[in-house]
Amino acid sequence: MSAQACSSCTFFQDHALNSGKSAEAAGLCRYNPPVTQPEADSRGLWPVVKTDDWCGHFEQENA
Ligand code: SF4
Repeated sequence: MSAQACSSCTFFQDHALNSGKSAEAAGLCRYNPPVTQPEADSRGLWPVVKTDDWCGHFEQENA
């Protein structure tokens, strides 16, 4: 297995959460637009992923 991990993916926003607070070993995946909208007047939420997660859309971040 290669070294695929959200922490080295171009779509990963490091240590950010939807609340605007920082997170340890987690961040937001920006591959897709936010899709979860709990209430009609609330904003959508970005998926929260761990740094060692990965998915089939992984794309190596440019150094
Ligand atoms: S979930 Fe997939 S696309 Fe999103 S940051 Fe992780 S590897 Fe990248």
